[in-house]
Amino acid sequence: MAYTTKNGKKLVTLIPGDGIGPEVVFSTKKIIAAAGVAIEWEECAAGESVFRKGLESGVPKETIESISRTRVALKGPLETPVGFGEKSANVTLRKLFETFGNIRPARELPGITTPYSGRGIDLVVVRENVEDLYAGIEHMQTPGVAQCLKVITRKGCEKIIRLAFELARAEGRKKVHCATKSNIMKLTEGLLKRTFEEIAPEYPEIESSHIIIDNCAHQLVKKPEQFDIIVTTNMNGDIISDLTSALIGGLGFAPSANLGNEVAIFEAVHGSAPKYAGKNVINPTAILMSAVMMLRYLDEFDAASNIEHAVLVTLEEGKVKTGDVVGYDKGTPTTVYTDTIISNLGRKSSKWKVRDYKPIKMWELPKDLDYVKPKTRRVIGTDIFVETTLSPMELGKSLEQLAEGTALKLKMCSNRGTKVYPLTGAITDCVDQYRCRFIIRNADSELSDAQLLELLNKIMTKHRWGHIEKLHEINGAPGFTKAQGED
Ligand code: NAP
Repeated sequence: MAYTTKNGKKLVTLIPGDGIGPEVVFSTKKIIAAAGVAIEWEECAAGESVFRKGLESGVPKETIESISRTRVALKGPLETPVGFGEKSANVTLRKLFETFGNIRPARELPGITTPYSGRGIDLVVVRENVEDLYAGIEHMQTPGVAQCLKVITRKGCEKIIRLAFELARAEGRKKVHCATKSNIMKLTEGLLKRTFEEIAPEYPEIESSHIIIDNCAHQLVKKPEQFDIIVTTNMNGDIISDLTSALIGGLGFAPSANLGNEVAIFEAVHGSAPKYAGKNVINPTAILMSAVMMLRYLDEFDAASNIEHAVLVTLEEGKVKTGDVVGYDKGTPTTVYTDTIISNLGRKSSKWKVRDYKPIKMWELPKDLDYVKPKTRRVIGTDIFVETTLSPMELGKSLEQLAEGTALKLKMCSNRGTKVYPLTGAITDCVDQYRCRFIIRNADSELSDAQLLELLNKIMTKHRWGHIEKLHEINGAPGFTKAQGED
């Protein structure tokens, strides 16, 4: 929770950011001050300037210390300049402070005409923020084969799903969709779906349903008003939340919050839009509405509503419009737009409502590392990844010979996920990496590490191996999927 200073002000870390960041952050700070909220800002650096000084993470120690102290940050967009640093400073900040939930609302706004105007879009994408392909675990497995691990945990799923339902309660929303690709990725995306189905009954007043993510994208374009809250994995959420921003007028209007149990970081969905930097033309609404979310997080509900109403009145009256709405040759300068919102503080739109928000209950899950304790588990085989230019037939025969006299027998080899040995008669375009699946000969026993290493030692006499995976059976069910074409 937030830190309050001795003089009663709430302490917030402020990262102006890169490109258009300082302009939109300054505009927001000015509006918050005009609304009379007592905030003490601790200004800190991150992003481009930090990378250029040679710090590879883009996030200096002082900034980490500030957020650790204040627990709340308002952040402008950060850039990773080409040739500096490897990881995004944005992702680093989200991960360092375990802000596992990315909340991205998209609501139709008055005076912002889109092909969807009048349909009442008012939805929130709740995106898991730290796992999935964004765990950032990538390897070149052979000179021509790259891999990125998609890491999904039961604990991560439970946290994001509970957050989605608690958000529904806090905002008086009625429906939560869980959007996954569980039909293809049964274990990873499927874990989110299964966890959703287990937890949903604890929220009986909220309608819950699962939707396949590609259909979700289709439905969002076709009939977006049917959605209330969509909870989804990191990559899916990244993509569909940019889509939902476009439905309501673009990135200039898309706020977001990164919520964790300890820390919250508020930022616009958009980036640093460098071509508009310093021109006083950019739309500050996205970060302003992110700051409105921050005020609610800080229990400043009245000030948050006051600012939200001022934005709605400003847009409804349409006397000022930024360049992204009317074209940059005709747009209102950022500073004038900001001052107009300030002049509208205290006014209320008669037609456009502001929700009756309540604090979001954040679930504290047990910190046990072995979060899931199975009743039974055993290792029943192994996948050994081999780099070779042999044909499937040549490799398969060689591995069968090598496995003779060991505890394991070759079940199949696959290439790029498709079974190619024993031969299937299908046409598969192979590359120099095979996944070779060995299963324990005695079906009732458990594979020991010594038995696995015996096989590996034999294989490495003839072939270059890349990595191995143990095949687990957990609570009697396989903890691995079959290759395409595998029986
Ligand atoms: P971007 O900065 O979001 O800009 C893309 C386009 O979106 C802009 O050219 C502009 O469209 C529109 N736009 C963005 N913000 C706007 C605003 N406030 N008002 C009006 N229009 C706005 O995306 P990018 O060009 O792909 O990325 C630039 C840099 O930002 C990259 O270094 C990227 O890594 C970084 N980035 C940071 C974050 C973050 O900090 N969370 C997020 C995304 C990207 P038009 O060109 O059509 O006018």
